[in-house]
Amino acid sequence: MNAYVYGYGKPGKERLIVIDLGVTFPDMDSSPGVDLIMADVAWLEENKHRIDAIFITHAHEDHIGALPHLWPRLRKPVYARRFTARIGALKLEEAGIGTEELHVVEPRPQVIEAGPFKVQFVPVSHSIPESSALVIDTPAGRIVHTGDFKLDGSPIVGEPFDPVLWHEIAGEGEGVKLLVCDSTNVFSPQPGRSEATLAEPLTKLIAEQEGMVVATTFASNVARLKTLAEAGKAAGRSICLLGRAMKRMVTVAEETAVLTGFPGHIPAEDAADVPRNHLMLIVTGSQGERRAASAQLSRGKYLGIEMKDGDTFLFSSKVIPGNERGVIRIMNAYSEKGVEVIDDRGGLYHVSGHANRPDLEAVHDLLKPQMLIPMHGEHRHMREHSKIATSKGIASLVATNGMMIDITGTAPKVAEYIEAGRTYLDGSVLIGALDGVVRDRIRMALNGHVLITVIIDEDDVPLGDAWVELMGLPEVGRSGTPIADQIEDELAEFLERAPDKIISNDDKMDEALRRIARQVTMEEIGKKPEVTVVVSRLMAD
Ligand SMILES: [Zn+2]
Ligand SMILES: [Zn+2]
Repeated sequence: MNAYVYGYGKPGKERLIVIDLGVTFPDMDSSPGVDLIMADVAWLEENKHRIDAIFITHAHEDHIGALPHLWPRLRKPVYARRFTARIGALKLEEAGIGTEELHVVEPRPQVIEAGPFKVQFVPVSHSIPESSALVIDTPAGRIVHTGDFKLDGSPIVGEPFDPVLWHEIAGEGEGVKLLVCDSTNVFSPQPGRSEATLAEPLTKLIAEQEGMVVATTFASNVARLKTLAEAGKAAGRSICLLGRAMKRMVTVAEETAVLTGFPGHIPAEDAADVPRNHLMLIVTGSQGERRAASAQLSRGKYLGIEMKDGDTFLFSSKVIPGNERGVIRIMNAYSEKGVEVIDDRGGLYHVSGHANRPDLEAVHDLLKPQMLIPMHGEHRHMREHSKIATSKGIASLVATNGMMIDITGTAPKVAEYIEAGRTYLDGSVLIGALDGVVRDRIRMALNGHVLITVIIDEDDVPLGDAWVELMGLPEVGRSGTPIADQIEDELAEFLERAPDKIISNDDKMDEALRRIARQVTMEEIGKKPEVTVVVSRLMAD
């Protein structure tokens, strides 16, 4: 959920720019039911009058996904290159937000002036079209913010890595004061491989298959989609794209002219009529997402198409840590159908979009920054990257969420901690991660829920018996008698004996009835459920 902020000016009065507004994805353990997770921008909102612009480096969800959710709280001009801006515009339009503040930027030499900042977009190779690093000039020096990148001389789609350009950037003025650098693959010791190396093995693999071939990768990896489609065509197969995100990416890439020569493909309606050995589907869902095409196909017929014994399913992708279970579920479902599942175990059918350790070092050497702040990766990745920098004599520091770093000196140092938590998109509403909503949801999910209803009349006398309903709990426990009945009996006994001062007090009633329900359930099934007590009081008028 990338969201970086740079400031220049007197302490507390700095002018600010924001780089990227991304999301991260929820999981069942810590954020069940949540739709998206993004940075809490409360501090930025409070200091909105100081923000001059928002820059988006590329259209991956972890960099642009929060735009439609958080932009309404900031309302500042947004700058991005054409493809990224188009994806951003679609997101804003879907959310019913106007796109007047979204500006298309050409790469360097175009300079965007935002307050004291002069910003240039520099093309980098990655796994989505038109990724950019930002060169940010301030009166106090030059910052290079790499965004996500790899060193690819032949990326199929988009601009190749250009060392001459980077050499130029390093040599201008007083050189690079600070490099803020992608750390994702810092633990990969081999130089990264080019996207172009995949064409041959993929073409060979697909040509060897006898049944239907289905391949999945990230919808936004337009270069890979092209390589896969070309490999399918070369094997005499009709190509069909399944999944809304994938069709959207190809359409936007073609509209913005970053993608040309994508092989012709057939609509899903026609795919079922093509003989299996002449068909190749390229589908969404490389991370095992339940609603994506790959998962739907693993469960049975999807849009009239069904995978069978002798077909092949190819993951031209890597599993992002945390998604393993979903992916394995799909692999097993295919396995049960007799479908051959091929993943990237051998590194033949996928290359990463991030720079490996030797490539990172090449960039350090090319840019010769005075300081380096690692970005993008888990803490362990950033720490490792920082160690590499330090060993090369580059002053470095790991910045964690909310840390404000002073880079005016010769080494980065912590200036302040900003309160920076997480915001959840829950259904259509934004909530704070610590608001208690999800905490309550987790408790109910883990412990079950008991609802108690009591009616008290005008004279503070219970009207009939208390009524109990269980949710997410077994009906009977150790004794064999329904738990709800037992709680009702205990409550009836309590209400009969309870003094007026308890019956007439909502808080005391709540506490007493809750305790009885939890006690009974604890004895019966060894669990203490969440309890809601509803006391309805009839009013004399
Ligand atoms: Zn990223
Ligand atoms: Zn990315």
